[in-house]
Amino acid sequence: MKIDKDILKEIKRLADEVIVDPEAMHGEVCKTISTFNGNGKAYHEIYPLRFLKERPLCDAVGNNAPLRLTFENKGEDYYKVGHYPKILNTNAPVVLIGKGITYDTGGLDLKHQMYGMHLDKSGALAVLGTMLQLARQKKKPNVDGLLMFASNLIGSRSTVPGTVVTTNRKKKVEINDTDAEGRLVLADGIEYALEHNKQVKNIITIATLTGVAEYTLGKYAAPFFSDNPKVHEYVYKHSDKLKLYPLPAPDATKEYKSKRVPGAIVNLAKGLKAGTIAGYQFLKHFTKGTKVHLHHIDMANMDSDANGRSLGFGSQQLLDLLEVVC
Ligand SMILES: [Zn+2]
Repeated sequence: MKIDKDILKEIKRLADEVIVDPEAMHGEVCKTISTFNGNGKAYHEIYPLRFLKERPLCDAVGNNAPLRLTFENKGEDYYKVGHYPKILNTNAPVVLIGKGITYDTGGLDLKHQMYGMHLDKSGALAVLGTMLQLARQKKKPNVDGLLMFASNLIGSRSTVPGTVVTTNRKKKVEINDTDAEGRLVLADGIEYALEHNKQVKNIITIATLTGVAEYTLGKYAAPFFSDNPKVHEYVYKHSDKLKLYPLPAPDATKEYKSKRVPGAIVNLAKGLKAGTIAGYQFLKHFTKGTKVHLHHIDMANMDSDANGRSLGFGSQQLLDLLEVVC
């Protein structure tokens, strides 16, 4: 299944715009969905998910205090899009989760250089593109998409390094680096999928997760991870066409243990030098003990061209992967 040109164009347009406020981003996404929902049947609804108390990792990103309880303090939101009515609590066996950091300054672990970080929402937009394309198909595969929008800014309520957060599924995470926020919003999405999609068998996360992806694979292909050897093998065989290249990811439970807080994991294992692999190794903590397969695309090296314009990468790759995992 090939992504249509008009969808790709719209995804690029949204990615290229600097829209820092997640609420404003929500508005843009809703507009796009209604524009593409021409016949009124293809797309039913977009669900804003605002379970603030229940989504602690996303809540801890950027300028959001972990204990924030009201909507007035902007900064995070989750959107679930689907093409079935009553999509909430659905049983879609495949869930796509995209990182949607509207702007990543790094938080208090401030980046030295952050020009272009409006593109840090590209993973969520890749999921949106895929969902728009699936809505056009006669036979729609049963897939859910989670768009994890949040802004990672600095302010008086910024999460300070060393903050410990307990996730919805009772995992303790010590945020030892506020710039490793993408994996936090993805982990929240994974937990959401495990709680709400009782039939979930496959989760695919996509994100501009690690800047070092470019040192790993240049602009040849996006690093790909899967705990299903068959999917890993498939991607290896078709890596040229898919523009994805599978990397190994051995267990890193030990490396992610917090030395300071008993029973907690850190969000950045400083000892792990292969940062792109380490990103997936963090996410793997959240499917541990389940039978759910976790596949992951790190598109940080593929999101833009030499002029800093979005390439609309990801939607086509997700569509290709769905043919293997569905
Ligand atoms: Zn970051």
